[in-house]
Amino acid sequence: MTTSSKASLIDGKILSGELRARVASEVARLKAEHGLTPGLAVILVGNDPASEVYVRNKGLATVEAGMNSFEYRLPAETSEAELLAKVRKLNADPAVHGFLVQFPVPDHISQQNVIDAIDPAKDADGLHPLNAGRLASGLPAMVPATPEGCLIMAKKAGGNLAGKHAVVIGRSNLVGKPIAQLLLRENCTVTIAHSRSKDLPAIAREADILVAAVGRPNMVKRDWVKPGAIVIDVGINRVPAPEKGEGKTKLVGDVDFADVSEVAGAITPVPGGVGLMTVACLLRNTVIAACRAEGVALPEDF
Ligand code: NAP
Repeated sequence: MTTSSKASLIDGKILSGELRARVASEVARLKAEHGLTPGLAVILVGNDPASEVYVRNKGLATVEAGMNSFEYRLPAETSEAELLAKVRKLNADPAVHGFLVQFPVPDHISQQNVIDAIDPAKDADGLHPLNAGRLASGLPAMVPATPEGCLIMAKKAGGNLAGKHAVVIGRSNLVGKPIAQLLLRENCTVTIAHSRSKDLPAIAREADILVAAVGRPNMVKRDWVKPGAIVIDVGINRVPAPEKGEGKTKLVGDVDFADVSEVAGAITPVPGGVGLMTVACLLRNTVIAACRAEGVALPEDF
Protein backbone atom coordinates (compact mmCIF):
# COMPACT_ATOMS: atom_id res chain seq x y z
CA MET A 1 0.00 0.00 0.00
CA THR A 2 1.16 3.52 -0.77
CA THR A 3 0.13 6.61 1.17
CA SER A 4 -2.34 9.30 0.02
CA SER A 5 -2.89 12.51 2.01
CA LYS A 6 -3.62 10.67 5.24
CA ALA A 7 -5.27 7.34 4.54
CA SER A 8 -3.30 4.47 3.01
CA LEU A 9 -4.29 3.77 -0.57
CA ILE A 10 -5.55 0.24 -1.18
CA ASP A 11 -4.24 0.00 -4.70
CA GLY A 12 -6.41 -2.06 -7.05
CA LYS A 13 -3.74 -1.99 -9.75
CA ILE A 14 -1.20 -3.71 -7.52
CA LEU A 15 -3.60 -6.18 -5.89
CA SER A 16 -5.36 -7.13 -9.12
CA GLY A 17 -1.98 -7.49 -10.86
CA GLU A 18 -0.87 -9.93 -8.16
CA LEU A 19 -4.07 -11.95 -8.41
CA ARG A 20 -4.00 -12.04 -12.21
CA ALA A 21 -0.40 -13.24 -12.14
CA ARG A 22 -1.42 -15.96 -9.68
CA VAL A 23 -4.31 -16.98 -11.97
CA ALA A 24 -2.02 -17.03 -15.02
CA SER A 25 0.52 -19.29 -13.31
CA GLU A 26 -2.25 -21.66 -12.18
CA VAL A 27 -3.66 -21.74 -15.72
CA ALA A 28 -0.19 -22.59 -17.06
CA ARG A 29 0.04 -25.46 -14.54
CA LEU A 30 -3.44 -26.77 -15.45
CA LYS A 31 -2.52 -26.76 -19.14
CA ALA A 32 0.83 -28.47 -18.59
CA GLU A 33 -0.26 -31.06 -16.03
CA HIS A 34 -3.88 -31.72 -17.00
CA GLY A 35 -4.32 -30.45 -20.55
CA LEU A 36 -7.04 -28.18 -19.15
CA THR A 37 -7.59 -24.64 -20.48
CA PRO A 38 -10.26 -22.80 -18.47
CA GLY A 39 -12.77 -20.94 -20.67
CA LEU A 40 -14.81 -17.84 -19.83
CA ALA A 41 -17.67 -16.66 -22.03
CA VAL A 42 -19.53 -13.35 -21.93
CA ILE A 43 -22.84 -12.61 -23.61
CA LEU A 44 -23.61 -8.98 -24.37
CA VAL A 45 -27.08 -8.02 -25.58
CA GLY A 46 -27.30 -4.60 -27.25
CA ASN A 47 -24.56 -1.98 -27.31
CA ASP A 48 -24.59 -0.08 -24.06
CA PRO A 49 -21.23 1.78 -24.25
CA ALA A 50 -20.21 1.09 -20.61
CA SER A 51 -21.03 -2.62 -21.04
CA GLU A 52 -18.98 -2.72 -24.27
CA VAL A 53 -15.95 -1.46 -22.34
CA TYR A 54 -16.43 -3.99 -19.51
CA VAL A 55 -16.83 -6.87 -21.96
CA ARG A 56 -13.76 -5.88 -23.94
CA ASN A 57 -11.66 -5.58 -20.76
CA LYS A 58 -12.85 -8.96 -19.50
CA GLY A 59 -11.99 -10.59 -22.82
CA LEU A 60 -8.49 -9.08 -22.90
CA ALA A 61 -7.79 -10.09 -19.30
CA THR A 62 -9.01 -13.64 -19.97
CA VAL A 63 -6.66 -14.08 -22.93
CA GLU A 64 -3.80 -12.48 -21.01
CA ALA A 65 -4.25 -15.08 -18.25
CA GLY A 66 -3.84 -17.82 -20.87
CA MET A 67 -7.50 -18.81 -20.81
CA ASN A 68 -9.99 -19.24 -23.63
CA SER A 69 -12.25 -16.22 -24.09
CA PHE A 70 -15.60 -16.45 -25.88
CA GLU A 71 -17.65 -13.35 -26.66
CA TYR A 72 -21.21 -13.40 -27.97
CA ARG A 73 -22.67 -10.07 -29.06
CA LEU A 74 -26.39 -10.23 -29.67
CA PRO A 75 -28.51 -7.40 -31.11
CA ALA A 76 -30.66 -5.30 -28.74
CA GLU A 77 -33.84 -6.78 -30.26
CA THR A 78 -32.84 -10.36 -29.28
CA SER A 79 -35.86 -12.01 -27.63
CA GLU A 80 -35.76 -13.52 -24.15
CA ALA A 81 -36.31 -16.97 -25.69
CA GLU A 82 -33.31 -16.48 -28.00
CA LEU A 83 -31.11 -15.36 -25.10
CA LEU A 84 -32.22 -18.29 -22.95
CA ALA A 85 -31.42 -20.65 -25.83
CA LYS A 86 -27.89 -19.17 -25.97
CA VAL A 87 -27.54 -19.62 -22.21
CA ARG A 88 -28.57 -23.30 -22.49
CA LYS A 89 -26.03 -23.76 -25.28
CA LEU A 90 -23.23 -22.45 -23.06
CA ASN A 91 -24.50 -24.61 -20.16
CA ALA A 92 -23.86 -27.60 -22.43
CA ASP A 93 -20.55 -26.45 -23.95
CA PRO A 94 -17.64 -28.33 -22.32
CA ALA A 95 -15.09 -25.67 -23.40
CA VAL A 96 -16.95 -23.01 -21.39
CA HIS A 97 -16.33 -23.44 -17.66
CA GLY A 98 -17.82 -20.13 -16.59
CA PHE A 99 -19.94 -17.48 -18.24
CA LEU A 100 -21.98 -14.42 -17.55
CA VAL A 101 -24.58 -12.32 -19.24
CA GLN A 102 -23.54 -8.67 -19.05
CA PHE A 103 -26.26 -6.70 -17.25
CA PRO A 104 -28.30 -4.64 -17.75
CA VAL A 105 -30.15 -6.50 -20.51
CA PRO A 106 -32.80 -4.64 -22.57
CA ASP A 107 -36.11 -4.05 -20.73
CA HIS A 108 -38.06 -6.71 -22.64
CA ILE A 109 -35.86 -9.45 -21.13
CA SER A 110 -36.28 -10.57 -17.51
CA GLN A 111 -32.90 -10.44 -15.77
CA GLN A 112 -34.08 -13.00 -13.21
CA ASN A 113 -35.19 -15.47 -15.90
CA VAL A 114 -31.73 -15.23 -17.41
CA ILE A 115 -30.00 -15.77 -14.05
CA ASP A 116 -32.27 -18.75 -13.26
CA ALA A 117 -31.34 -20.39 -16.59
CA ILE A 118 -27.57 -20.37 -15.94
CA ASP A 119 -26.05 -23.66 -14.76
CA PRO A 120 -25.04 -22.78 -11.15
CA ALA A 121 -21.72 -24.59 -11.70
CA LYS A 122 -20.86 -22.17 -14.55
CA ASP A 123 -22.31 -19.07 -12.90
CA ALA A 124 -19.16 -16.91 -13.08
CA ASP A 125 -20.95 -13.91 -11.51
CA GLY A 126 -22.38 -15.99 -8.64
CA LEU A 127 -25.88 -14.59 -9.16
CA HIS A 128 -27.90 -17.83 -9.36
CA PRO A 129 -30.15 -18.29 -6.29
CA LEU A 130 -28.43 -21.60 -5.55
CA ASN A 131 -25.06 -19.85 -5.27
CA ALA A 132 -26.53 -16.96 -3.25
CA GLY A 133 -28.16 -19.50 -0.91
CA ARG A 134 -25.00 -21.56 -0.57
CA LEU A 135 -23.00 -18.42 0.23
CA ALA A 136 -25.58 -17.41 2.87
CA SER A 137 -25.44 -20.97 4.31
CA GLY A 138 -21.65 -20.87 4.60
CA LEU A 139 -21.22 -23.55 1.90
CA PRO A 140 -18.78 -23.48 -1.05
CA ALA A 141 -20.35 -21.39 -3.81
CA MET A 142 -19.55 -19.40 -6.90
CA VAL A 143 -19.11 -15.99 -5.24
CA PRO A 144 -19.82 -12.75 -7.14
CA ALA A 145 -16.54 -11.25 -8.26
CA THR A 146 -16.99 -7.66 -7.04
CA PRO A 147 -17.73 -8.63 -3.42
CA GLU A 148 -14.83 -11.05 -3.46
CA GLY A 149 -12.55 -8.26 -4.66
CA CYS A 150 -13.83 -5.99 -1.87
CA LEU A 151 -13.04 -8.64 0.73
CA ILE A 152 -9.49 -9.11 -0.55
CA MET A 153 -8.97 -5.35 -0.35
CA ALA A 154 -10.45 -5.08 3.15
CA LYS A 155 -8.24 -7.93 4.37
CA LYS A 156 -5.17 -6.39 2.77
CA ALA A 157 -5.80 -3.22 4.77
CA GLY A 158 -7.16 -4.75 7.97
CA GLY A 159 -5.65 -8.23 8.29
CA ASN A 160 -7.89 -10.37 10.49
CA LEU A 161 -11.32 -8.75 10.33
CA ALA A 162 -12.91 -10.78 13.16
CA GLY A 163 -14.96 -8.69 15.57
CA LYS A 164 -14.81 -5.54 13.46
CA HIS A 165 -18.02 -3.67 12.73
CA ALA A 166 -18.66 -3.60 8.98
CA VAL A 167 -21.31 -1.31 7.53
CA VAL A 168 -22.36 -2.03 3.95
CA ILE A 169 -24.38 0.70 2.25
CA GLY A 170 -26.41 -0.97 -0.51
CA ARG A 171 -28.29 -4.27 -0.57
CA SER A 172 -28.27 -5.42 -4.21
CA ASN A 173 -27.97 -9.13 -4.98
CA LEU A 174 -24.88 -8.43 -7.10
CA VAL A 175 -22.94 -6.38 -4.58
CA GLY A 176 -24.34 -5.32 -1.18
CA LYS A 177 -25.84 -8.60 0.06
CA PRO A 178 -22.94 -10.88 -0.95
CA ILE A 179 -20.38 -8.45 0.50
CA ALA A 180 -22.29 -8.57 3.77
CA GLN A 181 -22.26 -12.40 3.67
CA LEU A 182 -18.52 -12.50 3.02
CA LEU A 183 -17.82 -10.10 5.88
CA LEU A 184 -20.04 -12.18 8.18
CA ARG A 185 -18.03 -15.25 7.16
CA GLU A 186 -14.94 -13.34 8.35
CA ASN A 187 -16.67 -12.91 11.73
CA CYS A 188 -17.40 -9.20 11.33
CA THR A 189 -20.48 -7.71 12.96
CA VAL A 190 -22.38 -6.59 9.86
CA THR A 191 -24.90 -3.83 9.35
CA ILE A 192 -26.59 -3.47 5.95
CA ALA A 193 -27.89 0.03 5.21
CA HIS A 194 -30.00 1.13 2.24
CA SER A 195 -32.19 3.91 0.92
CA ARG A 196 -34.70 3.59 3.78
CA SER A 197 -32.08 3.61 6.54
CA LYS A 198 -32.49 6.49 8.98
CA ASP A 199 -29.52 8.76 9.76
CA LEU A 200 -27.12 7.00 7.42
CA PRO A 201 -24.12 9.19 8.41
CA ALA A 202 -24.52 8.07 12.05
CA ILE A 203 -24.72 4.39 11.02
CA ALA A 204 -21.69 4.77 8.75
CA ARG A 205 -19.67 6.43 11.53
CA GLU A 206 -19.96 3.22 13.57
CA ALA A 207 -18.02 1.29 10.93
CA ASP A 208 -14.50 -0.06 11.27
CA ILE A 209 -15.01 -1.20 7.67
CA LEU A 210 -17.29 0.93 5.51
CA VAL A 211 -18.37 -0.40 2.12
CA ALA A 212 -20.27 1.95 -0.21
CA ALA A 213 -22.16 0.18 -3.02
CA VAL A 214 -24.83 2.67 -3.91
CA GLY A 215 -24.33 4.42 -7.24
CA ARG A 216 -24.44 8.00 -5.89
CA PRO A 217 -21.38 10.10 -6.77
CA ASN A 218 -19.34 11.31 -3.77
CA MET A 219 -22.14 10.57 -1.29
CA VAL A 220 -19.93 9.51 1.61
CA LYS A 221 -18.23 12.53 3.23
CA ARG A 222 -15.56 12.74 5.90
CA ASP A 223 -18.08 13.24 8.72
CA TRP A 224 -19.59 9.81 7.84
CA VAL A 225 -16.32 8.06 8.58
CA LYS A 226 -14.82 6.93 11.87
CA PRO A 227 -11.15 8.02 12.07
CA GLY A 228 -8.95 5.15 10.95
CA ALA A 229 -11.75 3.17 9.25
CA ILE A 230 -11.17 1.04 6.15
CA VAL A 231 -13.27 2.46 3.30
CA ILE A 232 -14.10 0.33 0.27
CA ASP A 233 -15.71 2.27 -2.58
CA VAL A 234 -17.62 0.06 -5.01
CA GLY A 235 -19.46 2.87 -6.80
CA ILE A 236 -18.70 3.69 -10.42
CA ASN A 237 -20.40 6.92 -11.45
CA ARG A 238 -19.82 8.98 -14.57
CA VAL A 239 -20.05 12.71 -13.84
CA PRO A 240 -19.40 15.88 -15.87
CA ALA A 241 -15.77 17.08 -15.74
CA PRO A 242 -15.79 20.64 -17.11
CA GLU A 243 -12.18 21.04 -15.85
CA LYS A 244 -11.16 18.53 -18.56
CA GLY A 245 -12.94 20.48 -21.29
CA GLU A 246 -16.47 21.08 -22.49
CA GLY A 247 -18.68 17.99 -22.52
CA LYS A 248 -15.98 15.84 -20.86
CA THR A 249 -16.80 13.34 -18.12
CA LYS A 250 -14.90 11.33 -15.51
CA LEU A 251 -15.51 8.38 -13.19
CA VAL A 252 -15.96 8.87 -9.46
CA GLY A 253 -17.01 6.55 -6.67
CA ASP A 254 -19.70 6.77 -4.00
CA VAL A 255 -17.09 8.14 -1.61
CA ASP A 256 -15.72 11.68 -1.75
CA PHE A 257 -12.15 10.43 -2.02
CA ALA A 258 -10.21 13.63 -1.21
CA ASP A 259 -12.45 14.49 1.73
CA VAL A 260 -12.61 10.99 3.25
CA SER A 261 -8.87 10.39 2.76
CA GLU A 262 -8.34 12.98 5.51
CA VAL A 263 -9.90 10.72 8.16
CA ALA A 264 -9.95 7.12 6.90
CA GLY A 265 -7.16 4.68 7.76
CA ALA A 266 -7.22 3.09 4.31
CA ILE A 267 -9.27 3.74 1.20
CA THR A 268 -9.79 2.35 -2.31
CA PRO A 269 -9.65 4.81 -5.23
CA VAL A 270 -12.07 5.06 -8.19
CA PRO A 271 -10.94 4.33 -10.82
CA GLY A 272 -8.09 1.95 -9.97
CA GLY A 273 -9.81 0.17 -7.10
CA VAL A 274 -12.59 -2.39 -6.79
CA GLY A 275 -13.30 -2.45 -10.55
CA LEU A 276 -9.87 -3.91 -11.32
CA MET A 277 -10.29 -6.53 -8.61
CA THR A 278 -13.64 -7.56 -10.10
CA VAL A 279 -12.01 -8.67 -13.34
CA ALA A 280 -9.22 -10.55 -11.52
CA CYS A 281 -11.74 -12.35 -9.28
CA LEU A 282 -13.86 -13.28 -12.29
CA LEU A 283 -10.84 -15.00 -13.83
CA ARG A 284 -10.17 -16.83 -10.59
CA ASN A 285 -13.84 -17.93 -10.41
CA THR A 286 -13.50 -19.41 -13.88
CA VAL A 287 -10.39 -21.38 -12.94
CA ILE A 288 -12.20 -22.70 -9.84
CA ALA A 289 -15.22 -23.69 -11.96
CA ALA A 290 -12.98 -25.45 -14.51
CA CYS A 291 -11.22 -27.44 -11.79
CA ARG A 292 -14.50 -28.44 -10.13
CA ALA A 293 -15.92 -29.51 -13.50
CA GLU A 294 -12.88 -31.61 -14.35
CA GLY A 295 -12.25 -32.93 -10.84
CA VAL A 296 -8.81 -31.29 -10.63
CA ALA A 297 -7.51 -30.15 -7.23
CA LEU A 298 -6.41 -26.54 -6.73
CA PRO A 299 -3.84 -25.38 -4.19
CA GLU A 300 -5.59 -24.52 -0.88
CA ASP A 301 -4.45 -20.90 -1.00
CA PHE A 302 -5.71 -20.26 -4.55
P1 NAP B 1 -28.17 -1.10 -7.30
O1 NAP B 1 -28.68 -2.45 -7.65
O2 NAP B 1 -28.80 0.12 -7.89
O3 NAP B 1 -28.27 -0.97 -5.71
C1 NAP B 1 -27.98 0.24 -5.07
C2 NAP B 1 -28.22 0.11 -3.59
O4 NAP B 1 -27.96 1.37 -2.99
C3 NAP B 1 -29.66 -0.27 -3.22
O5 NAP B 1 -29.67 -1.25 -2.21
C4 NAP B 1 -30.26 1.05 -2.72
O6 NAP B 1 -31.19 0.90 -1.67
C5 NAP B 1 -29.04 1.75 -2.15
N1 NAP B 1 -29.23 3.19 -2.19
C6 NAP B 1 -29.63 3.96 -3.24
N2 NAP B 1 -29.68 5.26 -2.87
C7 NAP B 1 -29.31 5.30 -1.57
C8 NAP B 1 -29.18 6.34 -0.63
N3 NAP B 1 -29.42 7.62 -0.94
N4 NAP B 1 -28.80 6.03 0.62
C9 NAP B 1 -28.55 4.75 0.96
N5 NAP B 1 -28.66 3.71 0.12
C10 NAP B 1 -29.04 3.99 -1.14
O7 NAP B 1 -26.62 -0.97 -7.61
P2 NAP B 1 -25.46 -2.08 -7.55
O8 NAP B 1 -25.54 -2.97 -8.73
O9 NAP B 1 -25.40 -2.69 -6.19
O10 NAP B 1 -24.18 -1.14 -7.77
C11 NAP B 1 -23.85 -0.13 -6.82
C12 NAP B 1 -22.71 0.71 -7.38
O11 NAP B 1 -21.59 -0.14 -7.58
C13 NAP B 1 -22.98 1.34 -8.76
O12 NAP B 1 -22.30 2.57 -8.81
C14 NAP B 1 -22.35 0.37 -9.73
O13 NAP B 1 -21.94 1.00 -10.94
C15 NAP B 1 -21.15 -0.07 -8.93
N6 NAP B 1 -20.62 -1.39 -9.29
C16 NAP B 1 -19.28 -1.48 -9.39
C17 NAP B 1 -18.70 -2.69 -9.69
C18 NAP B 1 -17.21 -2.77 -9.74
O14 NAP B 1 -16.67 -3.70 -10.31
N7 NAP B 1 -16.50 -1.80 -9.11
C19 NAP B 1 -19.48 -3.82 -9.91
C20 NAP B 1 -20.87 -3.71 -9.79
C21 NAP B 1 -21.42 -2.48 -9.46
P3 NAP B 1 -32.64 0.20 -1.86
O15 NAP B 1 -32.37 -1.27 -1.92
O16 NAP B 1 -33.37 0.60 -0.65
O17 NAP B 1 -33.20 0.75 -3.14
